Amino acid sequence: MPGFKVAIDGPAGSGKSTISKRVAEQLNLTHIDTGAMYRAITYYALQQGSDLDDESSYQFMERIKVRYDKDRIYIDNIDVTDQIRTDLVTRNVSKVSSFPYVRKILVHIQKEAAKGVDVIMDGRDIGTVVMPDADLKIFLTAAVKERAKRRQKEKEVLGIQQDIQALETEIIERDRKDSTRKESPLICADDAIVIDTTHYSVEDTTNRIIEEILKKEKYHGRTTNEGR
Ligand code: C5P
Repeated sequence: MPGFKVAIDGPAGSGKSTISKRVAEQLNLTHIDTGAMYRAITYYALQQGSDLDDESSYQFMERIKVRYDKDRIYIDNIDVTDQIRTDLVTRNVSKVSSFPYVRKILVHIQKEAAKGVDVIMDGRDIGTVVMPDADLKIFLTAAVKERAKRRQKEKEVLGIQQDIQALETEIIERDRKDSTRKESPLICADDAIVIDTTHYSVEDTTNRIIEEILKKEKYHGRTTNEGR
């Protein structure tokens, strides 16, 4: 029985993961943050001292196991959730994710993870490549200044002070790389609902998405994920 599938795409800092997590908790869906997988590969490659510019460096992906489970990311069963959020990983992840070899393996893992479960998956190419048959596709956006402000607040919570201008520049640069790469770039699927979250709180956007899910007949007839 195919599960109920929600695809959430959008640029850096648009709130995809935070909001997807909340929707998942409230509606008992499995949440998968695909950005965490690209970050995990970047972290691993950096740890290995791999040449990040050489696509053949990523052949280690044949040997390791990447798994996203209950909002934690694992490489060979080692939890690397905290390690993947460093500036070094953030600065390099768009390069790593631009390689077709890397994408092919991660897209396969993501498609397998979505099979037969009720899932909300967030990333850049979920509605276009990973789950083109999703029951609901959402494209989240927000003004760059607002996204930089949110990132700054997230960092403050972690005790890190970062200049807003530097964050804005990093976000613009990552969006440019993610939107212009050849292999499955960040684009809005034709059948996605676009939500501009600039003036909305996390709670407002979460509720808006839940409303859209509840409109779907298939959601009410779902039989998977029961008893999770
Ligand atoms: O979502 P997050 O900002 O953590 O994603 C980190 C990076 O991973 C993105 O900037 C992008 O380069 C890459 N990514 C991707 N495809 C996805 C999810 C993330 O290329 N589906």
